[in-house]
Amino acid sequence: MATDQSKEIETLVRARYPIVYIVSWEEDRVDACLREVARRRRKRLFQWTTTNGLVEYDSRRPRQESCEPLNALDEVFASADAAIFVFKDFHPFLKDSTVVRKLRDLTYALKRSYKTLIILSPILELPPELQKDITVVDYRLPTMEEIGRQLDACVESVADDDRVDGSLTPEQHEHIVKAARGLTAIEVDNVLAKSLVERGCFDVDVILSEKEQIIRKSGILEYFRAEERFADIGGLDALKNWLRKRNDAFTERAREYGLPQPKGIMLLGVQGCGKSLTAKAVASLYRLPLLRLDVGRVFSGIIGSSEQRMRHAIQIADSIAPTVLWIDEIDKALSGTHSSTFSDAGTTSRVFATFVTWMQEKESAVFVVATANDVTNLPPELLRKGRFDEIFFVDLPSAEEREEIFRIHLAKRKRDPAEFATRELALACPGFSGAEIEQALISAMYDAFVEEREVETADVVRAIRETVPLSVTMREEIQWLRHWSETRARLASSKVTEELAGGDEGAAEARDVSETAETGE
Ligand code: ATP
Repeated sequence: MATDQSKEIETLVRARYPIVYIVSWEEDRVDACLREVARRRRKRLFQWTTTNGLVEYDSRRPRQESCEPLNALDEVFASADAAIFVFKDFHPFLKDSTVVRKLRDLTYALKRSYKTLIILSPILELPPELQKDITVVDYRLPTMEEIGRQLDACVESVADDDRVDGSLTPEQHEHIVKAARGLTAIEVDNVLAKSLVERGCFDVDVILSEKEQIIRKSGILEYFRAEERFADIGGLDALKNWLRKRNDAFTERAREYGLPQPKGIMLLGVQGCGKSLTAKAVASLYRLPLLRLDVGRVFSGIIGSSEQRMRHAIQIADSIAPTVLWIDEIDKALSGTHSSTFSDAGTTSRVFATFVTWMQEKESAVFVVATANDVTNLPPELLRKGRFDEIFFVDLPSAEEREEIFRIHLAKRKRDPAEFATRELALACPGFSGAEIEQALISAMYDAFVEEREVETADVVRAIRETVPLSVTMREEIQWLRHWSETRARLASSKVTEELAGGDEGAAEARDVSETAETGE
């Protein structure tokens, strides 16, 4: 049966795309796909490696004379066959300007022939001269059906083995397949074998924890087990309602009804007001796995190019879908699209373009939650309609919301909120973020703890008084952000937050209110 990916490659071959660059770690799977394409198109299939030169697939006889890349390209040029030539691990040679020139010359010749050149490599490194001539295909990770077939083969292989229990109910089968999504075919085989050896059966937990490690090793994605619940978020009612309404948005029922797959949201706003908390709680609400993309690492030169790392992350997210992809502090990385911060502006722009195109076209059930504090450098294209479903502005909490946050954090720390004057506490800390409220509470608890007594309202008030919130030190920035958001973003909360008091005056005002709360006046 032809897979979607083999059909895609076959279309490129039929349409005489001269050079196709397939990005994949999985040579075996790509080889099988190319064999299928060659068979269907009745073409001969050759492969080139530095060790064996250019030889027909299945030929065991090396041809030393064609190990040299330029010679091999000359042979492709001269060949009269209708054929597909697969060059494996060719990317290091793309740094050689003579090879690049030869490929460009070859492009024109191949367009008028029945020959296709395929570069197969785990790393995408395209010299700018070739960017318009080469078509890039990210070879997808195994689908659910493919993993299912691998699992069936594994079950069959242990059927007569008394030491392990390979039996699975249809439900268990589905859980195992879902747990293994996002892995390459070899990794799937390895985790299945590991589970059998370690537990004597197919165990979802073994597979999930192996997967967590494998994904972490990719260097940019982290697999999170979100423990935060929606009830842990104080305030932000409009945002929570919007998200709740989309609770069933990933179901087949929603598709049948005619609703599009949600793309995701951008949360802009003041530090420490619950943006990251919301990203984690969304995953719990939708009962989906949470992947965190470390954008900073996309630009740190570990393996391959930044663009390649972004593509790889997207590929993993797509294959794990339905999932929540949390992109923390997207502003920090993308600020280089205009001026350079992490790398040259060209690289950042390409990575950004890869992301935006994916957001625009994505049909997979990957719900993106991007968070940002600084909007000054966010490229306008990112905020245009069609990228995110909605852009929310997360402001400092209102008095009512601060009270709710106090209650949440008191309860989290095994205290009964009813025993605290939460209303007074909330009034005592205008301009405080949720994170600052939490910190004030923890600090008050430490004070009481060293004195070996129970924490009380007055301790919290004292801690509040000792805190200078960011809204004082960063008053102008926050005001600017509010102003900016007025016309560009939707408010995450329907509650009105107080105007920020100015500089020292603001701190003094906060102190005054806190004294009132303490004395109960
Ligand atoms: P940053 O931009 O600094 O990453 P953020 O907006 O993502 O900030 P969070 O990381 O979500 O803020 O907040 C830090 C912590 O503060 C949370 O883990 C939570 O304990 C507390 N907090 C912040 N806002 C709220 C809130 N609305 N309700 C309850 N707790 C909150």
